[in-house]
Amino acid sequence: MKLPGAPFLAYRGESLHLDGCELDALADRFGTPLYVYSQAAMLAALAPYQRALVGRKHLICYAMKANSNLAVLQTFARAGCGFDIVSGGELARVLAAGVSADRVVFSGVGKTREEMRLALRAGVKCFNVESEAELEVLSAVAVQEGRQAPVSLRVNPDVDAGTHPYISTGLKANKFGVAHDRAVAAYRRAAALPGLSVIGIDCHIGSQITEIAPYLDALDRVLDLVEAIEAQGIALHHLDLGGGLGITYTDETPPAADELIGALLTRLDARGHGHRMLMFEPGRSLVGNAGVLLTETLYLKPGQEKNFCIVDAAMNDLMRPAMYEATMAIVACRRRDEAPVTYDVVGPVCESGDWLGRARSLAVQPGDRLAVLSAGAYGMSMASNYNTRGRAAEVLVVGDEAHLVREREQPAELFRGERLLP
Ligand code: PLP
Repeated sequence: MKLPGAPFLAYRGESLHLDGCELDALADRFGTPLYVYSQAAMLAALAPYQRALVGRKHLICYAMKANSNLAVLQTFARAGCGFDIVSGGELARVLAAGVSADRVVFSGVGKTREEMRLALRAGVKCFNVESEAELEVLSAVAVQEGRQAPVSLRVNPDVDAGTHPYISTGLKANKFGVAHDRAVAAYRRAAALPGLSVIGIDCHIGSQITEIAPYLDALDRVLDLVEAIEAQGIALHHLDLGGGLGITYTDETPPAADELIGALLTRLDARGHGHRMLMFEPGRSLVGNAGVLLTETLYLKPGQEKNFCIVDAAMNDLMRPAMYEATMAIVACRRRDEAPVTYDVVGPVCESGDWLGRARSLAVQPGDRLAVLSAGAYGMSMASNYNTRGRAAEVLVVGDEAHLVREREQPAELFRGERLLP
């Protein structure tokens, strides 16, 4: 099997390495569960986006919900990226990473007044507004603050991204964006409201998309709207085409980022919109295959129907299998010369939904470390403290140096804010 994450992730002899670091040695040094990311892999994933956009006015806004560790944000900031945020917490994080707010766009279907105030004061580049009701509230907050809010409406193009229902966002039935047939009226409203400056249009149709066609359908629908909106005398300076490009977890074959962007640019040029400033919001495709989750095998439990490999990482560390029934490859950090056995790889949490992989063929013994692959996106950023489990530590590998970029959470930290009754 070709490892997702190759060439940065590879066996040298019998031992799995990420860049210059042996993963088993990192588990010895930092403990498990442990997220390990490769900076080189992140930058290599960004490169085709950047290459495809050379010579075009553009801003690649990393969707930090995918992985919001400060050192990861710093990596993308130094590489010239902007950021897509969805909460006041993400705003605080991105500012803490030293990013200037004028490189930040604020998405999300439920922004609070307080979050709007903070983002206005920080001076974000754009609010991606998702409803007419939100327009009214943002206008009121901006007037109160004596500021102009730069806005773009997220339109819902009603196209099927062909992805898991939980991560499909561009259908009429989804909660996201302004309906296509309401969009022109909503833009007229936005242009008339005080405190708002209309600057762009935005769409994002889903995540883990493995085809170009839905993007082209969405682009066509968005360009129809751009033409209709500009015919009303409302100028749109940028087009934000969202994120959503998929990665290979097992056998998926998504287009490369430069292939996708090339196809979008061809369509934009053909329709006479090639001069526009372009924004993208990739998350998963920049970090997903740059990271692994390391876990130690605690027990092997042979069963009548199934064998279980019980490990020290659980659904609270990595939600994707439990939440989306996602399949992520699991391999040994050190290969054994033994016949493999089929196991369900499960964690210690008290839920039958707590599994990391089903029916995996592994040659493993207690104490061996396993690596869950493609865990750089929506891994740590979705982790919880369920079962009062401290969240994992995180390491960023730069060449052959391993930097601890987040300490393992200790139990006392988990109830620090709680109070006993008098
Ligand atoms: N932009 C918005 C508005 C999103 O909701 C998301 C995630 O769902 C993204 C960008 C990033 O998507 P992905 O990680 O699939 O690239």
